[in-house]
Amino acid sequence: MKIGILGGGQLARMMALAGYPLGHEFLVVDPNEDACAGQLCELIVADYDDPDALDRLADECGVVTLDFENVPVAAVARLAAKVPVKPGARALAVAQDRLNEKNTFTELGIPCPAYAAVDSREELDRAADEIGLPAVLKTRRLGYDGKGQAVIKEPADIDSAWSELGGQPLILESFVAFKRELSIIAVRSDDELVFYPLTENRHKNGILVTSFAPANAPKVEELAQRHARKLMETLDYYGVLAVEFFDCGDHLVANEIAPRVHNSGHWTIDGAVTSQFENHLRAILGWPLGATRAKGASAMLNWIGAMPDPATGLKYPEAHWHDYGKKPRAGRKVGHVTLNASNILTLQTELATFAMALGEQLKEWGADAFNTSRAD
Ligand code: AMP
Repeated sequence: MKIGILGGGQLARMMALAGYPLGHEFLVVDPNEDACAGQLCELIVADYDDPDALDRLADECGVVTLDFENVPVAAVARLAAKVPVKPGARALAVAQDRLNEKNTFTELGIPCPAYAAVDSREELDRAADEIGLPAVLKTRRLGYDGKGQAVIKEPADIDSAWSELGGQPLILESFVAFKRELSIIAVRSDDELVFYPLTENRHKNGILVTSFAPANAPKVEELAQRHARKLMETLDYYGVLAVEFFDCGDHLVANEIAPRVHNSGHWTIDGAVTSQFENHLRAILGWPLGATRAKGASAMLNWIGAMPDPATGLKYPEAHWHDYGKKPRAGRKVGHVTLNASNILTLQTELATFAMALGEQLKEWGADAFNTSRAD
């Protein structure tokens, strides 16, 4: 079957890499002619709401999915009248707006940071009083990788946060003093709902740098699954959904959802029986899902800005190399590597030597990015 994808970045590319062995073809829409999935799939260079591009997807594809959550909801709704789109417009409308997202968490009884909508400077002052400081001011829409947000530590920071972000719909949320960040990758098909083991994530400047899986998180594993299940059932969601949490010890605070395959699930390509990409495709096609079991312990390191020399990285026999075929640019995710070991101790040793050999690029992340032992 031909599968349509809105968005032609690395997620679309990795979906295609998982889909070809299953016998599928892909048709991808992206406004950027350099979109890296275009190196593998037929690419239509067009805006996401271009009627001709959407008609082609509807005519040629059996199902359409997304590699990017900021596709116009109206375009998805229009497309869905002609061809199944999974996940659908409802999940997108929630994930695209941090206020909708937090209202949904609250309605479902899923704890999230205290929050308030902010549309004016007066509202920001009032929200800071009500919520208290420290707090994080975020754009309601289009924020990613820590972009579109400012931490307000004390009242003196309010002016600069407002001048940086004011003039668009915002949300102020309380700053969560979390122990670590965890995410769950859940997959739902017509009659199955399965979960990968929790992943522990480290960020630098708002960008994911390393993920470890399975996270040692027995106290909150089931809780995360319950929260993800509620979200998927409420949003009538099919495919892979990622939910990011702050782990506060005995409870989880939800940060955000991603209505798509997710960076914190990249380890599943080399470290789980079935990858998140393959399971996403199986789910949207109504096929039986593959096992989500981890094969030992995995660490995933993102390459940000530029790829290092593969000749150095591949000296490590347990390293799995992924180059997305993107041009180097500061702050851009251009690839990742997954290290796999039979247990967490071996993985930690392997990671330390690997990080030393790869040197310069990893130094700025700090030692904590490579420490797998923040567990319970
Ligand atoms: P986001 O784009 O909302 O996922 O934010 C990027 C990163 O900023 C998160 O992964 C956290 O490390 C940090 N962050 C975001 N919101 C908060 C918060 N309310 N409290 C503490 N840290 C946060």
